Amino acid sequence: MRPIIIGSGMGGLCTGLILKKNGINPIIFEKSNHYGGSFSSYKVGKYQVDTGAHMLTRGKSGELPVLMKTYIDPKIFEKKFVAQKHFKFFIHDKGAVLPMNLSSLLKFDLLPMKDRISFFKMFIDFLKLGRAGTEKYPDMISYDYVKKYITSRDLLILLNAFSWMSTGCSIKEGALSRFVDTFVRNKKISGKYILKHITPKSNASEGDWYPLGGLKKVPEYFIKEKLDVRLRKKVDKIVVKNNKVVGVKIKGKIIKTDMVIYDGLVKNLNKILIGGKYTGKIPKIDEYSSVTIWLGFKKKITNWNRESQVYCDPNLESPHWGVFFTDFDPSLAPVGHQLFGISAITHTNQKKLILKMEKTIDKMIPGYKKYVDMKHVQVYRAEKTLQKAYNSMWHLPEQKTNIEGLYIVGTDTKAFGSGGTMCADSAIRCWHHIRKDYKV
Ligand SMILES: Cc1cc2nc3c(=O)[nH]c(=O)nc-3n(C[C@H](O)[C@H](O)[C@H](O)COP(=O)(O)OP(=O)(O)OC[C@H]3O[C@@H](n4cnc5c(N)ncnc54)[C@H](O)[C@@H]3O)c2cc1C
Repeated sequence: MRPIIIGSGMGGLCTGLILKKNGINPIIFEKSNHYGGSFSSYKVGKYQVDTGAHMLTRGKSGELPVLMKTYIDPKIFEKKFVAQKHFKFFIHDKGAVLPMNLSSLLKFDLLPMKDRISFFKMFIDFLKLGRAGTEKYPDMISYDYVKKYITSRDLLILLNAFSWMSTGCSIKEGALSRFVDTFVRNKKISGKYILKHITPKSNASEGDWYPLGGLKKVPEYFIKEKLDVRLRKKVDKIVVKNNKVVGVKIKGKIIKTDMVIYDGLVKNLNKILIGGKYTGKIPKIDEYSSVTIWLGFKKKITNWNRESQVYCDPNLESPHWGVFFTDFDPSLAPVGHQLFGISAITHTNQKKLILKMEKTIDKMIPGYKKYVDMKHVQVYRAEKTLQKAYNSMWHLPEQKTNIEGLYIVGTDTKAFGSGGTMCADSAIRCWHHIRKDYKV
């Protein structure tokens, strides 16, 4: 019997790839007409836009890049991805390039020296704590841990922007586990690790990477490994007998299997189970919208040269993150045109946010309106990604469930990182359980 994966989001595809490369050939059922879930792209006129502005993080050691290098092509990042040059952060409309190591942090003139030193101390604290060290503080809100380092309103505004970008909510709501993970990975204070973060030439972030050909290319690389994905196949039920998975039901037809990996929303799992009940953790889901405004410009109006700009919000609301995607891949727009995307999040009023974002675009690209020949506004509810303190990594459900043969993956299950990285980490964790349970 072949294992069945429900959902071809990055969680389902990462798990499918690991199984396939270890000699187990799963069937992946996807209810929509495209694979990749939230990782997708489509055409708007002559431009190609993504489902929200996306970058892949940590090209060297992040779980998703490492998975792709291990199972698809060791050189895939060098060949198929383009690195962002840097982030430029703005506070009260003054901008500076974000330092990528502690030496340049001390020269970061967006903040006065006393704030830089505080930031430095916070970073050293995080280095000692490491991502795993946050397990001691599962319910901790980032602000409650870092407030001892916040020596001015401007430092709070900056750290708040980091929080929104990593957790989807403000520093006064976001989970410490995810916030610390943005800065550091493991708890190994070795000489090499310190050098990676401190010396003037080190790049602790490992960069943010954009896939050539657009976001849709990432799932495409997985599909090309001959994963068996069946589109427009909604799994209506997972059938359980005597607390063991025995099959799935699609349009009244039962397909037998003893292993199901579910990449849909964990909060919906019990709705599709028959003959059994999932008793594990269910993440709380909050209402919020992620807004992206895409603009096509009929000529080259500016050259950011792969710089991302982030305008921090003085009232601690979401920052506005703008990128010229044609800096990474000119083929996303007609020859000589530019494609720009700007993203932000709101938990309250979308219309107000869109108006505010338009004012930010005017600051980023003065007089931009006269060059626009495409405008496309996307609103998504990225419900799997919000990490408030009560949905911290340490409160998300394990991949192995109480039902024999039933596993869960994706960004609403326990994993480090964010978005795609979490999907890969959840798939790796799921594979550890499967190997043990099925002795493979
Ligand atoms: C605007 C925006 C910006 C983002 N930016 C980034 C970024 O820069 N970097 C990053 O790494 N991440 C980013 N993310 C997050 C990332 O896109 C998602 O967290 C991740 O792709 C979620 O993957 P998943 O597999 O957990 O779930 P999903 O992508 O939601 O996939 C689940 C899949 O399961 C299918 N499914 C569900 N139920 C069934 C069923 N019963 N039968 C068959 N199929 C089913 C769905 O159709 C879907 O395709 C962003 C998200 C948004 C919205």
